[in-house]
Amino acid sequence: MNRRDEATRLDSHDPLRAMRDAFALPQDRVYLDGNSLGALPRCVSERVRAVVDQQWGRDLITSWNVHGWVNLPLSVGEKIAPLIGAAPGQVVCCDSISVNLFKLLATALGLRPSRRVVLTCAGDFPTDAYMGQGLHSLLGAERCEMRAVGVGELADALDETVAVLMMTEVDFRSGRRHDMRELTAAAHACGALVLWDLAHSAGALPVDLDDCGVDMAVGCGYKFLNGGPGAPAFLYLAQRHHNQVTQPLSGWFGHAAPFAFDPDYRAAPGISAYQAGTPGVIGMQALDAALDLFTGLEPASLRRKSLALTGFFMEGVAADPALAAMEVLTPTEEARRGSQVSLRHPEAHAIAQCLIAAGVIVDFRDPDIVRFGFAPLYNSFTDAAIALQCLSTVLSAGAYANERYRQRAQVT
Ligand SMILES: *Cc1c(COP(=O)(O)O)cnc(C)c1O
Repeated sequence: MNRRDEATRLDSHDPLRAMRDAFALPQDRVYLDGNSLGALPRCVSERVRAVVDQQWGRDLITSWNVHGWVNLPLSVGEKIAPLIGAAPGQVVCCDSISVNLFKLLATALGLRPSRRVVLTCAGDFPTDAYMGQGLHSLLGAERCEMRAVGVGELADALDETVAVLMMTEVDFRSGRRHDMRELTAAAHACGALVLWDLAHSAGALPVDLDDCGVDMAVGCGYKFLNGGPGAPAFLYLAQRHHNQVTQPLSGWFGHAAPFAFDPDYRAAPGISAYQAGTPGVIGMQALDAALDLFTGLEPASLRRKSLALTGFFMEGVAADPALAAMEVLTPTEEARRGSQVSLRHPEAHAIAQCLIAAGVIVDFRDPDIVRFGFAPLYNSFTDAAIALQCLSTVLSAGAYANERYRQRAQVT
């Protein structure tokens, strides 16, 4: 059976197949960048229109109460909680990952006052380290020291100076997935806390924060959760750490009584204290609607589909002699794999541009990686087969050598 026929057969047996119709995907494109910006769910267009026209337009300021705008950060947080294995009361939806990392890193240092090191994995998404560097310049080296080591050196680097281990579960470049349970236990064994970045996990694979004993986590609303460009992020803090330190972005939405207009800050109890200012209601409503697509789905079914898609794609790469020059960075071992496949080639940027020009939307990561993201809710095996065919044509024809594919845009 050729690959397209095999893909058709797999699609016809896919239990999540009907979910694709819930998305407004363009007919003439194959979208493999849902790990960077999730596709548009049809229900989001409807919700945003209703929020703008009816809630904002007609009900105006009364909407804060009448339409529950004021509770959105907590109610959307509760919708995300089951996707990341969190019992109620521990997740809030607000701000960006970057801002939420700042609140949590400061909290971690507050919970471990005799320790100063934030240990991270070299090569993780840079904003995580940048936020730590900002905290370091604010607090000084005696209170906050950033230390980045290779994956293989993490175990040795965990010592009694480490306040918190900050890790991204799925590496954004390679698609490699770390062992959350094992690393969390290793951090705890030396008395450190652990903070997981779930940007490439939430909505793509099951996460068991409570069960793994994780202390803190952040994640993204606009990737696999499909909340739209710049959708609010989320923040998790385990119950046992609530009400112990005051997070430094102590804005009025995290106050115990925002509308008392008290001159002094008094933190709200629980996870609510991790809000800062007024939520972006339109973006939060879009994410709230997008999350409805996960209702009733087993995270394990998403994982099965994701592994099948990435596995099918990787087999196709290995079987095609025209793709021999592309090095597969993503682990073949299923437990070590996220929901993307990363291929390395010195001409990666131009290759990605060729694919996009041919209607296969992927992205490029500096200096030499093409990423193929597989969103289990809407990508099909046929998408993967078309991408393989297109990639094969681009490499055999050498089309990427054309000068016009060398221009770098502001966003890659
Ligand atoms: C996408 C991504 C972010 C994005 O951070 P924002 O502050 O929400 O823009 C952070 N960390 C990782 C690992 C990511 O993949």
